[in-house]
Amino acid sequence: MIPYGRQLIDAADVAAVTDALTSPMITQGPHLAQFEEGLCEFTGAQYAVAFSSGTAALHAAVAVAGIGAGDTVVTSPLSFAASANCARYAGATPTFVDIDPSTLNMEPTLLGPHIDAVVAVHYAGLPLDVSKLRHRPRVVIEDAAHAIGAVTAYGPVGNCTRSDMCAFSFHPVKTITTGEGGAVTTNSATYAERLRRFRNHGIKHRADADGWFYEIESLGFNYRMTDLQAALGTSQLSKIRGFVERRNELAERYRNVLSELPIELPPRAPEGWLHAYHLFPIQVARRRHVYNAMRAAGIGVQVHYIPIYHHPLYQDLNIKESDFPCTEHVYSRLLSLPMYPALTEEEQDRVVSTLRESL
Ligand SMILES: *Cc1c(COP(=O)(O)O)cnc(C)c1O
Repeated sequence: MIPYGRQLIDAADVAAVTDALTSPMITQGPHLAQFEEGLCEFTGAQYAVAFSSGTAALHAAVAVAGIGAGDTVVTSPLSFAASANCARYAGATPTFVDIDPSTLNMEPTLLGPHIDAVVAVHYAGLPLDVSKLRHRPRVVIEDAAHAIGAVTAYGPVGNCTRSDMCAFSFHPVKTITTGEGGAVTTNSATYAERLRRFRNHGIKHRADADGWFYEIESLGFNYRMTDLQAALGTSQLSKIRGFVERRNELAERYRNVLSELPIELPPRAPEGWLHAYHLFPIQVARRRHVYNAMRAAGIGVQVHYIPIYHHPLYQDLNIKESDFPCTEHVYSRLLSLPMYPALTEEEQDRVVSTLRESL
C-alpha cells in the first residue's frame, strides 16, 4: 500500500535517538531544551514549548490564553477534530465559519465581532492570512499542524508576528516527526511560562524557597515530551528544508501530469509564499468510486476531512449544513493523494495512472 503520508527516518535519526537513550536524563533533559531552541531558530519565535502531541499543544495554547467557559472559539470546519476539541477541553464553545474555496482555509472575512479566540488552521500547509480576519478576537492561535516550513509575506509560519501562539504537530504523517509530539511557539514570556507549567501539572518553583519546595496554583497535565522524542525532533528539524522542497517538487510534478484530467487541483500559495504541502487534496466527481478504485489498487488515498460539525459529538451545537455551502461542496469531492518526501517518482506515476483509470 502506498500511504497518503509517512515519515522519513534515516540513520542520523536512529543515531540521535540511540544517543539520547543512553544519556542520564531521558525526559526533561538537554535534548528537550535543544529541540525547543531549534524550533525558535527555525520559526523566528522567541519561545518554543514542546508537548506530547499537537493536540496537547492546542489544548495548552487555548487554556493559557485564558479561554474558558462562556467563551466562543472559531475554527475551520474543514480540519481534524482537535482544532475544535481544544476549545471544548477548556470549557469554551467551538464554532465555525465556512471555507474559502480558493484556499480551502476558513474565510477570514466571515469572522463575526463576538468571538473570543480563533484557531486558524493552515489547511494542507497553505497558510491562512490571519491579518485578513474581519474582526480580530482577543486571542489568535494558529493551528500549524500542517504548516511547519511554510512561509508567508510575514515570514516563516510560527514566528507569531500576526498571532499570539502557534501550535505544531510532529505526528509521523506531518512534515517532521517525533513519533508523537507537538509544540507551541510564542513571543510572549507570560504565555511561555504558563505553557511550561501547563505541561507539567501546573507546578511552580520559587527561587526564594527551599530546594524541595514547589506549589501548584493552577491545574496542569503531564503533557511532557521525552528527550528521546526531542532528539529525534532536532535531527528531523535539520532536514526540514529538504523535506518541504521535496514536497513542493512532488506537488509540481502532480500538477503537470494531472493538468488534463477532469479534477480540481489544490490551491497554490500566493506569489512569494511557500506552501508546506502536508497534503495534496484534489477534488473529483464520483469521489466514492475513485476512493474505492484507488484503495483496491493499493493507493492509500484519504479524505481530509469530514467537516467537524458532522461528528456526533458536535450535534449539540445545532449547526445547519446549509450554512456551510463551500465546506459541504468541497467535502463531497475531496481526496488526498499520497504526498511525502520518500514517495518515489515511480510510485507517484502509479498513483497518477491509477487515478486516470479510475476516472
Ligand atoms: C494532526 C493534527 C492535529 C493534532 O496533532 P496530534 O499531534 O496528532 O495530536 C491538530 N490539528 C490538525 C489540523 C492536524 O492535522
